[in-house]
Amino acid sequence: MPKDTATRYDILFEPVRIGPKTAKNRFYQVPHCNGGGYRDPSAVAEMRRTKAEGGWGVIFTEQTEIHPTSEITPFIEQHLWDDRDIPALAKMADAMKSHGALAGIQLAYSGINGPNLYSRETPLAVSGGPILTFTSDPVQARTMDREDIRNLRRWFRNAFRRSQQAGFDIICLYGAHGFGILQHFLSRATNHRTDEYGGSLENRARFLREIIEDARDETRGELALSLRLSLHEAGTFGFSNAELRDFIEMHGSLPDIWDLAHGTWEACSGTSRFKPEGAQEDLIAGIKSLTPRPVVGVGRFTSPDAMVRQIRAGLLDFIGAARPSIADPFLPLKVQEGRIDDIRECIGCNICVSGDMTGGISRCTQNTAFMEEWRKGWHPERPRPKGPSQTVLIVGAGPAGLEAAHAAAKRGYTVTLAEASETMGGRVIRESALPGLSAWRRVADYRLGQLRQMPNVSLYPASRLTPEDLLTFGAQHIAIATGAHWRRDAVARLHLHPIPTDPAMPVFTPDDLMAGHLPKGRVALYDDDHFYMGSVLAELLVAKGCTVDYITPATKVAEWSENTLEQATIQRRLMELGVTLHLSKAPEALHADHLTLGCTWTGRNAPLPADAVLMVTSRIPDDRLYHATRALNWQSAGIRTLERIGDAAAPAPIAWATYAGRRYAEGLDAPDTGDALPFRREIAALSDAPRLTP
Ligand code: ADP
Ligand code: SF4
Repeated sequence: MPKDTATRYDILFEPVRIGPKTAKNRFYQVPHCNGGGYRDPSAVAEMRRTKAEGGWGVIFTEQTEIHPTSEITPFIEQHLWDDRDIPALAKMADAMKSHGALAGIQLAYSGINGPNLYSRETPLAVSGGPILTFTSDPVQARTMDREDIRNLRRWFRNAFRRSQQAGFDIICLYGAHGFGILQHFLSRATNHRTDEYGGSLENRARFLREIIEDARDETRGELALSLRLSLHEAGTFGFSNAELRDFIEMHGSLPDIWDLAHGTWEACSGTSRFKPEGAQEDLIAGIKSLTPRPVVGVGRFTSPDAMVRQIRAGLLDFIGAARPSIADPFLPLKVQEGRIDDIRECIGCNICVSGDMTGGISRCTQNTAFMEEWRKGWHPERPRPKGPSQTVLIVGAGPAGLEAAHAAAKRGYTVTLAEASETMGGRVIRESALPGLSAWRRVADYRLGQLRQMPNVSLYPASRLTPEDLLTFGAQHIAIATGAHWRRDAVARLHLHPIPTDPAMPVFTPDDLMAGHLPKGRVALYDDDHFYMGSVLAELLVAKGCTVDYITPATKVAEWSENTLEQATIQRRLMELGVTLHLSKAPEALHADHLTLGCTWTGRNAPLPADAVLMVTSRIPDDRLYHATRALNWQSAGIRTLERIGDAAAPAPIAWATYAGRRYAEGLDAPDTGDALPFRREIAALSDAPRLTP
């Protein structure tokens, strides 16, 4: 490590005690979901192993549900319902400890948040009422009586024992984000009890004190205990920051470490569009002085200087990280080795969160190996050895082309990356100039920074290639990553064919705006894309002095951004900016000075005056180069493979493009496996397997 770096960041690598355990450094991967959970145990274990390898001092599981009376299907987390769940978690604990990290398990009982759609058990809550979930399930929980509370203590005890059997070092008791029953006890919003578990703060904290005592007893004091609480629950009756401070002052030595996380999950995991790095500083400042125990907090920290400041300023003892650890599992090691420019910084897009929210499997825009470590054998740092061929030409330096070039070059291929424009980065560069999206530039900056240092890479900006160029270039493999452009004709999900349009009405697309061609006056923005682009452009237009009518066939603004935890913030932002919302509406025809706007429920329509229309609908692949080259005799030019990747194949968010680039590079010289499944998976073993007839 360079000397100045060594001393500057030394403090991050000091060992810190957590009760009976000692963490080797201050890098603390807080619990985070991944969309794999109990369904993909080996995939999750291998993902955590890369963090161990990357130098994290503490590594946690995701939420682990301790009993079937409280589970949050359709979200896929971990189960510790009986002893048969231990082996999968033991495998994960083992992977976490493989390089000296402490292995942590987050235990959760969801109470008023658990609809039990899978287990069908009656939900139990501190105070009964409708289940509070993202999906408004038509289910209520029953208020726990004293016997239920005794049962719950026993179920926690069982989970403590099983956690220890599985080999974990730390148990995290979950009471943050409004999700865990510990918070439901503490908060007057969810605790309406009049017995000894309700009323005063002392009473509301009773259950917590009891299970911490139980945990110490059950594990013989051998495991460290972390308490994960919200820093601030909003609302008149919420467990506010002031009350949290009172609680910590009263119970400063209760857990071995305080893990403090903003308020709701949306607030804690805010996107970079709405939340800067270190956003919870005001809420956490001063808490350390209330307790002799160490404090960990998050803040999407990727800058080691910001981390050092948090420690030196006495705000935190540990740098908590979920997303930065996903984007770069090797962040601690890179800091330790002084390789700061090699850090793959999280861009704060929350695509990782969407994996959990959709019941898919998480992916990361920046770390293409995330959740593919076991499924596909990809590694965030170590490349797969190169195959027998030598040369690769990538056309187009957007996220797909950049990732393909980087991953292929790391494998050892001789890579040429040609880009038509002077600036490399494609859509990432254009989009990062839009309001709130500047951090997205990191997708291009990281890859270009790496590529520029590699001797086997040639970068050619300002080089628009033709089919003839491809044939004469001499590359064995060619990937066409030429991107896509936005449609102008309203075709997307609702309209599958273009709508009647008077040519006198100026129609714009996001590409026009990103190129600096802006409409004027009253603009009708039609969003049938449902992710970020429509609302970002609405903000841009307002900033440029336009009056904006935002039209969408959905019932909400930017509906899909529920999955990135941004929807409510986006809708609030547009309303505050004075954008007029036309929900469940769509244009049926564009006339010279107005639109015919139809209601998607009743079909009734009405005119809406407009000076211009902005279509945020869908995109068309720019695949002419691909098809024109395919039409030539490319094989006889010595080209072995010719593929289109990323948006040029099928437009999607940036994370899909970086993934496509990685998949392409991993596939170079790979044997043809025919119809075999392209990834590994685990299938439930039948408890009563039928005999197969030969
Ligand atoms: P993706 O998201 O799939 O990476 P982008 O639209 O971000 O796609 O990037 C595609 C890039 O390809 C753009 O920067 C574009 O300028 C470039 N490009 C398009 N056609 C050519 C071409 N014929 N030769 C070189 N570069 C091209
Ligand atoms: Fe960060 Fe986005 Fe990756 Fe999540 S998906 S870790 S927010 S870069």
